[in-house]
Amino acid sequence: MEEHNNHLDESFRDHISTVDADGKRVWVYPKKPKGFFTTARNYVSYVFLLLFIAIPFIRIKGDPLILLNVIERKFILFGIIFWPQDFHLFLLAMIAFIVFIVLFTVVYGRVFCGWACPQTIFMEMVFRKIEYWIEGDYRSQMALDKAPLSVNKFFKKLAKHTIFLSFSFFISNLFLTYIIGTDEWWKVVSDNPVNHIGGLVSIVVFTFVFYGVFARFREQVCTTVCPYGRLQGVMLDKNSINVAYDYVRGEIRGFLKRGEDREAEGKGDCIDCHQCVVVCPTGIDIRNGVQMECINCTMCMDECDSIMLKINKPKGLIRYVSEEGIRNRTGFIWTKKVISYTIILVVLVVALVVLLATRPDVETTILRTPGMLYQSQGNDKYSNLYNFKIINKTRDTIPIRFEITSHAGEIKLVGQIPVIVPNALSEGALFIVLDQKDITKIKTPITIGVFEGNEMIDEVSTSFVGPVK
Ligand code: SF4
Ligand code: SF4
Repeated sequence: MEEHNNHLDESFRDHISTVDADGKRVWVYPKKPKGFFTTARNYVSYVFLLLFIAIPFIRIKGDPLILLNVIERKFILFGIIFWPQDFHLFLLAMIAFIVFIVLFTVVYGRVFCGWACPQTIFMEMVFRKIEYWIEGDYRSQMALDKAPLSVNKFFKKLAKHTIFLSFSFFISNLFLTYIIGTDEWWKVVSDNPVNHIGGLVSIVVFTFVFYGVFARFREQVCTTVCPYGRLQGVMLDKNSINVAYDYVRGEIRGFLKRGEDREAEGKGDCIDCHQCVVVCPTGIDIRNGVQMECINCTMCMDECDSIMLKINKPKGLIRYVSEEGIRNRTGFIWTKKVISYTIILVVLVVALVVLLATRPDVETTILRTPGMLYQSQGNDKYSNLYNFKIINKTRDTIPIRFEITSHAGEIKLVGQIPVIVPNALSEGALFIVLDQKDITKIKTPITIGVFEGNEMIDEVSTSFVGPVK
């Protein structure tokens, strides 16, 4: 009777499958997967790998498609440059992205983890494949690890770790191109090393971080570190579609015996062969139900399908299905949670599009120079000194001029007529001269227009300090 109730035993939730009772790591040797979903994921991951590598090199009018320069707080998403002044837009874009992920997870479960997460793609599609290529499938890997050191073992391990380290070095460089851009990265790796100590140290540090992640830490990133994985408990509900074991069809599980009538014996389709466990890269048993450790990699689906084919049963004992779908044989249901997340997502996306569309091309600040009072210019005229800063968010050089739009006054630039360069901050100083009759307060509010030709492209408010008579 004990075997009948396996799927109701919840004790597996008390511990991580990859840590034993003494707290020691249980190394996972997943069986090499094959099947329809593995092939499909292979193709998808090739596309993603190409994209990961190409994105920093793809340019839109000279700027990378994506740049996440946290050092200079300059971010580019799909060609749109976000300056520190656009932080609210960047934040909104990030919130919309997170809500999208949450909504997607509520409906489709962790499909992102299995199909698009860079950790899974690099781990399962690059590093794991190198391991299978050098050390063979899981049984050979286990045997090699147990075997005493030999010339064969030494060279296999040396080859594997040398290749791992080389790929980690490559990923580290790629990672840097997302942070500082390809031009700066090229300077770091090709210029005199003395000028780029920080960049070179980062490459070395990240090489060892990635090596540690892919050679040793592996599935622990997904099962213990990744915040997205940890949030599954609050995001998933009974209608979320996940890689799941159909316990209605599979139970009561039991070994396959020659000539038996499983239906008559009350047995389900699961023959308890454990192949879905053997193939799992996070070392869990999907038959225990949806678990936070499951990255929806589909390997158990393929493995179980191949078993079902062998025993002449329909495929899909483990498949993409919701808990509700298994229990009641229903399809996808629009729950209140899904509807409210969808509304929030639509509102956020609309707000983001409106804010981006109405974002000014030029953003100006003009402030009186600190510590300066007014200067008398004679003939009842007074001047104030100001500092201006202009961010040009376009990709064009813009020649500009200033004009007082609130009063009849004069602007005298300190230095040359300003030309604001593309995607950069331009700074300068100017004097504003007003007639005594226009000075109505100790701090008279004034407005200054920034013009490109005859078109006012920005207008700012500031104040003018002068004697009131
Ligand atoms: S692979 Fe399929 S049949 Fe085998 S134990 Fe897993 S669920 Fe049962
Ligand atoms: S349970 Fe299946 S889908 Fe989940 S991680 Fe393991 S093999 Fe992948």
